[in-house]
Amino acid sequence: MSEADLTEYTAVIAGKKVPATAWIDVLDPSDGRPFARVARCGAAEVADAVDAARHTYESAWRFATVAERSGVCRRIAAAIRAERSELARLETLDTGKPLSQSLVDADVAARYFEFYAGAVEALGGETILHQADRFAFTLREPYGVCGHIIPWNYPLQIAARTVAPALAAGNCCVLKPAEDAPLTSLRLADIVLEAGLPAGALNVVPGYGEEAGAALAAHPGVDRLAFTGSREIGEAVMTAAARNIVPVTLELGGKSPHIVLPDADTARAVPLIVDSITEHAGQNCSAGSRLLVHRSVHGELVAALTQAFRALRVGPGIGDPDMGPLISAKQRDRVLGYLAEGSRDAVVRTGGKAPGGAAHARGFYVEPTILDHVTPEHRVFHEEIFGPVLCVSVFDTLDEAVGLAENTTYGLAAGVWTSDVTTAHWLAQRLRVGQVFVNNYSAAGGVELPFGGYKRSGIGVEKGLEALREYTRCKTVAIHTQLPS
Ligand code: NAD
Repeated sequence: MSEADLTEYTAVIAGKKVPATAWIDVLDPSDGRPFARVARCGAAEVADAVDAARHTYESAWRFATVAERSGVCRRIAAAIRAERSELARLETLDTGKPLSQSLVDADVAARYFEFYAGAVEALGGETILHQADRFAFTLREPYGVCGHIIPWNYPLQIAARTVAPALAAGNCCVLKPAEDAPLTSLRLADIVLEAGLPAGALNVVPGYGEEAGAALAAHPGVDRLAFTGSREIGEAVMTAAARNIVPVTLELGGKSPHIVLPDADTARAVPLIVDSITEHAGQNCSAGSRLLVHRSVHGELVAALTQAFRALRVGPGIGDPDMGPLISAKQRDRVLGYLAEGSRDAVVRTGGKAPGGAAHARGFYVEPTILDHVTPEHRVFHEEIFGPVLCVSVFDTLDEAVGLAENTTYGLAAGVWTSDVTTAHWLAQRLRVGQVFVNNYSAAGGVELPFGGYKRSGIGVEKGLEALREYTRCKTVAIHTQLPS
């Protein structure tokens, strides 16, 4: 495809498409070919976007009634639903994920706007009666301008997850999508305008992380930051936020375990464990990437999982296989590096390499892989691989299971598989993770459920009512109520 044939996507600032001065090619992960190009924004465009957000906040959005904000969010949700197929197609071309997963992403994105449209109608402060001569209450106020930096794995879902509560709460936003998958964020910028959001309330500035991302994180006009991505960049964003003394939400990586006990319903567990590590080729912050299994069921469970992994159809996302490619050659090579090391340290039950054959020749594919008998000495036990790689370890006692689960710096999610309710509660309380799933596993499902990491998986909470509160600040007003004597 020549440059002239590439569809062009530009930044949206103050409701207008801004002519680009430089471009980044957007590749289709299923064949490695560029199919679009996106504006390469830098500090100047970010500054314009922050100014636009400030202007709209001060002149319009902060004075919009709850009914107006809620109404716009509902219309955005309806517009996303109306465009569900086209958004999903774009997401699949951009990220490589199977089409049916992208359709779910579009539905979840719509749900975020719907949920926060309703939630903001019930948002209020509290009254604090602490003295007879004083009436005190709290107000929940928007911050003003929020900066949102998001990754490439679930761009549409994560854009909506972070922008919907911010807008509903009365903030204006500058969104920086990842350079590897920016397209649905830019389409969202059009959709919100068509749905009646004032121009400048949501500005989208695509570009490289070290250029547009760093400029947004450091901009003194941003009142609050939300970052979703890797731990390393999260540290950089938090440092930038510290310099401006602004709050920051960090949603970072994970190394989430499934803990399978002897009394588990393994027939129920198998497909959900498979899904949790092969959905979007394991490029999921809350992927169930470790399997901690009781010795008595280890052989049976690993055999069933191996069979299920081997049956997975891997191919271009647009054909809706079970698993698509990874996002980029860089990510594929990173995962293959872990597999080379892991296959020396552990036992490869299935997978372990890039698939051969013409069908996968140009795309960024990796075979769904099971590494068995992984122990805490191995790097693959601790580090986030971000690929379709399940690392299996064996335990004998519950304490040992907790010890293995805790033996990582991450703490995002965990799956617990048991038919004993006491054991389930005991583990749910014991594990230092943000979400525990008992006899199910679906971190993305349920926009109502708060989601945030323990330990180095992050700070703050996205999703649910908690997130709406996080996008507001608390002001206390105390009124003297003693009449003059
Ligand atoms: P990344 O950290 O490389 O990039 C994330 C975003 O930060 C991108 O938009 C990127 O352009 C930007 N960025 C890069 N350098 C920057 C800088 N110096 N300053 C400011 N911004 C910068 O992450 P990724 O590779 O896109 O995504 C994968 C990571 O994201 C994994 O670790 C995964 O676990 C994590 N993740 C977490 C969640 C969650 O909700 N906890 C969800 C999805 C992904």
